[in-house]
Amino acid sequence: MTSPLTQTDSPALRLHVRGVVQGVGFRPFVHRLASRHALAGWVRNRENGVEIVVAGAPESLDAFVRDLRAEAPPLADIAEIEAAPGDVYGATSFTIVSSAESTHDRQAVAPDVTTCDACVRELNDPADRRYRYPFITCTDCGPRYTVIERMPYDRERTSMRAFTQCDACGREYATPGDRRHHSETNSCSVCGPTLSLRDATGGTTLGNACLEDAARLLRQGAIIALRGLGGFHLAVDATNDGAVRRLRRAKHRDAKPFALMVRTLADARAVADMSDAEMRLLASRERPIVVVSRRAESAVAASVAPGMATVGLMLPYTPLHHLLLETVGVPLVMTSGNLSDEPICASIDEAVDRLRGIADAFLVHDREIVSRVDDSVMRMAGDTPIFLRRARGFAPLPVPLPIAVPPHQAILAVGAHLKNTVTLATDRSAYVSPHVGDLDSLETLVHFRATVARLADLFHIEPTTVARDLHPGYLSTAEAERRRASKRVVVQHHHAHIAAVCAEHGVTQPVVGVACDGTGFGDDGTVWGAEVLVADLTRYERVAHLRPVPLPGSELAIRNPWRSALGYLALEPMLGPVFARAFDGVEARELEVARRQVERRVNTPVASSMGRLFDAAAAILGVRREARFEGQAAMELEALAGSRAGELLPFPIIPGPEKRLVLDPMPLLGALGERRAAGVPLEALAAAFHDSVVAATVAVVRRVCEDRGIGVVAVGGGTFQNARLVATFAREAAAAGLRVLVPRALPPNDGAISYGQAAVAAARVAREIS
Ligand SMILES: [Zn+2]
Ligand SMILES: [Zn+2]
Ligand SMILES: [Zn+2]
Repeated sequence: MTSPLTQTDSPALRLHVRGVVQGVGFRPFVHRLASRHALAGWVRNRENGVEIVVAGAPESLDAFVRDLRAEAPPLADIAEIEAAPGDVYGATSFTIVSSAESTHDRQAVAPDVTTCDACVRELNDPADRRYRYPFITCTDCGPRYTVIERMPYDRERTSMRAFTQCDACGREYATPGDRRHHSETNSCSVCGPTLSLRDATGGTTLGNACLEDAARLLRQGAIIALRGLGGFHLAVDATNDGAVRRLRRAKHRDAKPFALMVRTLADARAVADMSDAEMRLLASRERPIVVVSRRAESAVAASVAPGMATVGLMLPYTPLHHLLLETVGVPLVMTSGNLSDEPICASIDEAVDRLRGIADAFLVHDREIVSRVDDSVMRMAGDTPIFLRRARGFAPLPVPLPIAVPPHQAILAVGAHLKNTVTLATDRSAYVSPHVGDLDSLETLVHFRATVARLADLFHIEPTTVARDLHPGYLSTAEAERRRASKRVVVQHHHAHIAAVCAEHGVTQPVVGVACDGTGFGDDGTVWGAEVLVADLTRYERVAHLRPVPLPGSELAIRNPWRSALGYLALEPMLGPVFARAFDGVEARELEVARRQVERRVNTPVASSMGRLFDAAAAILGVRREARFEGQAAMELEALAGSRAGELLPFPIIPGPEKRLVLDPMPLLGALGERRAAGVPLEALAAAFHDSVVAATVAVVRRVCEDRGIGVVAVGGGTFQNARLVATFAREAAAAGLRVLVPRALPPNDGAISYGQAAVAAARVAREIS
């Protein structure tokens, strides 16, 4: 396909296209389009987008520009097309020329893309030359962020550089109109990465025979470390209870649910009850793990998600997954290849070193992973998909900022302590990293630093401002302090939650923000976690909160919901008999020590945490007194509540210090305990607790909105990972005539804190300058 001769004196245009336009088949698309409109010229990747020069009839040029937007490839996202007169210097056809690299500008890096339907068809077609090739890709799919070392996106700047295309692949790459025209990850079994399986005895199999061997081991109950797209997974047969339990013991993860990979939507339906929206999310291009309602009767072992009514499912997203799932024939547990709370392993050496005591065999490939990235996790909250973790398939696409970072400045926001992410921001773009993890191990700290360096390098950002949490003890705070910066911005945790939600919705005016989570450092030195703020991007005022309660044992309370109940009991000791169930089975001596801690206020901070209120309720109801991971009690209450409507129990608003409103949960907790003693079913009480929390929160928000003349409410914080809570709050607040902003682009939890810090820092820096 070549374009007809074009006169050099034809009108010509130079177009600069910005947005997600590299690694998405954009240049081949431009080539087809130019050929169709009989235009001469060229296209090339530039560091900051794609540059096109076209010459031909004026009406063809107009049609070309129109179609450029209208027919862009599905993965492309054009932010802007800048047009200027150009010149083609005697070109007679249209060509794709090699990239120009400059260090001044930046451009969106495409996230990794799930294997496309066309590639899956070829993978399963015995007549195709890539039949059962585990690394099949095309311009529409395959690894991107995880293999890109630098921009612009060309093979020589990716880890595919190690594999030189064979003649057959080279021909596809060079042929306009081919689905692999200029596909930078193009390869086949002759020239591409290879698979190998190393078992415990040191034996190694190469090539596709590994798949049969790995499947056999899995069916025998083995734990396989699988090198995938963004790192290692640990896989076991999800129908084998013994294997799942062995994995739990080896990973030191005794209760937290494992995610499953199933081969098809039909297989997913055998495990879970799903709405159409959930199935669409599961099969969406990004292929996140989707948390859905688990079927009571299924082949999946109970130990996959003990005590949970939900299960996290995902579909295969690489050709290797497709082949493995098909060969093994059962759903697989696919959990991050790490010890609990450490970052996911990426290199083979690292995995062998760290996972040796866990995995029975390693199924690996030799394509290096440049950036590690975990699976994204989502769930539906009413009609709205929300993130629990934003990583593969989404990162590192920028999230827009409503107030731009001023020219020649850039922001590094270091995030929170748990579920950490970092954000680098410049102009109106915030590059939010994939999930980094909990910053309490050396490995995670190393990963944190590497992530900052990686994003800075990829997007050529040198931070001038560093934003951090108010908490003096966070590791991220220490990291922020040790960095050179001309300016430092400190952002209160819950302000960051609300700012994140406002910023992603482009809202800069004051809102009423409801931030509910476990713990965050308050500006009065106490622990906050159920806060109503009047806030914009630059500042906040705390106008209402939950009644503060002593938390005996501080951090120990997170794992021991009964401690939260004990804290509440200290506020009104005569409720002792009603709270009694909370302490059943708690060791007498431990209880006595905790009592004394409360009395003497030793290691007993005062907290207004919504997470701890959920814990106290769960303990008083006898649902859970000891938690094996943070949030377990809240998840169980949500599961018990289901979708039934609950009785509204008393949860009054009382006057607090400095004209603040205080939500007093004592009557609510008392009523729960009394009804439980009277034999009211747990399900009804869990529903009543949820609906009472929503009703009280909406009542406070309405009062504040009326007082201040504000019509917008934003919600954020880890408590809003509770789908029932966020959906009913949004419905009730909307029914009260308020505009409700719910986290969509980022998780409600602390994964959004770095973006919120960046939004606040940008707004403060911009205000100082203007
Ligand atoms: Zn493809
Ligand atoms: Zn090849
Ligand atoms: Zn938080």
